Amino acid sequence: MKKNHKYIFVVGGVMSGVGKGIASSSIGKILQSKGFKVNPIKVDPYLNVDAGNMNPIEHGEVFVLDSGLETDQDMGNYERFLEMNLNSEDYMTSGSVYKHVIERERNLGYRGKCVEAIPHITEEILRRIKKAADEHQSDISLIEIGGTIGDYQNILFIEAARTLKIKHPQDVIFIMVSYLPIPGSLGEMKTRPTQNAVRQLNSYGVQPDIIIARGAQSLDYKRKEKIAMACAIAPENVISAPDIASIYDVPINFEKDKISSIILKIFHLRSKTNGNSLKYWKDFVHERAQAKKELQIAVVGKYFDTGDFVLSDAYVSVIEAIKFSSAWKGARTNLTWINSKEYETDPKKISELKDYDGIIVPGGFGESGVEGVIMAVEYARVNKIPYLGLCYGMQLAVIEFARNVIGWKDAHTSEINPKSSHVVIDIMPEQKKLLEEGRYGATMRLGAYPAILKKGTIAYGAYGEKNISERHRHRYEVNPEYIADVENAGMVFSGTSPDRRLMEIAELPKNIHPFFLGTQFHPEFKARPLHPHPLFTAFIDACLKNRQS
Ligand code: GLN
Repeated sequence: MKKNHKYIFVVGGVMSGVGKGIASSSIGKILQSKGFKVNPIKVDPYLNVDAGNMNPIEHGEVFVLDSGLETDQDMGNYERFLEMNLNSEDYMTSGSVYKHVIERERNLGYRGKCVEAIPHITEEILRRIKKAADEHQSDISLIEIGGTIGDYQNILFIEAARTLKIKHPQDVIFIMVSYLPIPGSLGEMKTRPTQNAVRQLNSYGVQPDIIIARGAQSLDYKRKEKIAMACAIAPENVISAPDIASIYDVPINFEKDKISSIILKIFHLRSKTNGNSLKYWKDFVHERAQAKKELQIAVVGKYFDTGDFVLSDAYVSVIEAIKFSSAWKGARTNLTWINSKEYETDPKKISELKDYDGIIVPGGFGESGVEGVIMAVEYARVNKIPYLGLCYGMQLAVIEFARNVIGWKDAHTSEINPKSSHVVIDIMPEQKKLLEEGRYGATMRLGAYPAILKKGTIAYGAYGEKNISERHRHRYEVNPEYIADVENAGMVFSGTSPDRRLMEIAELPKNIHPFFLGTQFHPEFKARPLHPHPLFTAFIDACLKNRQS
């Protein structure tokens, strides 16, 4: 690790869900723009070892790293904002830390000592933080501690941070992302909950250096002074963070309150760049705001009646991937979430899909709403509407093709109907064994795998190269028994694993359909604002052409 390595701990005050992850990502972006190498770490204080078994409708998307680790959606924000690939060391939960310490104890790793939360858990937390900094060879580590001050379960992480500060007072700072409510009856922003949150943090022996004041409105100087006075910090170190239209504006907004100079001053560091180093980022934000063309895209899946808010959390990477590629093409895309069950109960409703410029079927699991999705795939195929299938969306496209083009009427996936006479999507033997043993955690095909693309296909045209690597999260695959039949009927497997055993991309030739493509992997995990994903961009391009015609 570099000498005088710096650490920024970001903690939450008052309540969670106010954008701590975006705030941390934005701070990272700004520090990058000042020429520093930053590595973000997300700490989730729950006992789950990883996020793999968590329900995305309740907890948001499960984001998958190259390594295959299943993590919190904030890791996706970090990768997108900071344009970097993160490693397993960059994410930890209380569960993963405890598991490691307990296993070490079982293996006599503590040589007969009594193993205790303090210091053994806190030491393990710090070991991981340092290892992550080492791996990235970074200048500054940005560690976001999930939850809020006062949650019992994050106390050991705060304690670990505190001990680090005691040892390296010049190298550690604390930022509290707080929330300032505006009660409807009063109509004014209240600072007291923030003051109390700081007091609670103080009771752990930690004083924040900077407070990010989230709220519906900007914070006026009077209130900055009030917080400053009550919390013993300079008013300039209270950053106003009002709600804004796009999360990608947040770094620009923080800089209005000069957050980077404040951080660099505390650390006694100097910017390594000069001028407008956030330029490309600003250009992207500007282009997005200026986009003139409009697109309507339907996202068809099994959705519960949870409202758009939760759905947008469950599919955040897909939504962002669409945003980036749309901005790249000068377009603004409206996504409509369609519950596929509606097509099962009212088949005529399917014709509403003619009003969309493109159709996406995202990843999913289980039986619910699947027949409705297959109807939507058929509609897209027959009516030549651009179609992008992501993981389940690819598998269901193969099933639709097997049923309606080849004529295997009961073709299915063994996830739903293992007794079908044509199980065109089937489980791999390795996975079957794990499931029989009742083991679910981290038992899918997870993380980055290489694939080889076939020349002359849509996929090859989009990527512009033969060798790719994409991230996976699924148990089932195209059944090797049926590959030849499906290809003979006209579907092209344009991407395969290097040994050609696993089908990675399925598409229809361009002379049959303008854009019909499904991926066994999740391309959305690798889409970045300044580097949109080529398949999403090709899809948006096809949607734009479809709209014009
Ligand atoms: N349910 C399918 C599988 O496990 C697809 C998973 C997904 O879409 N992520 O293979």
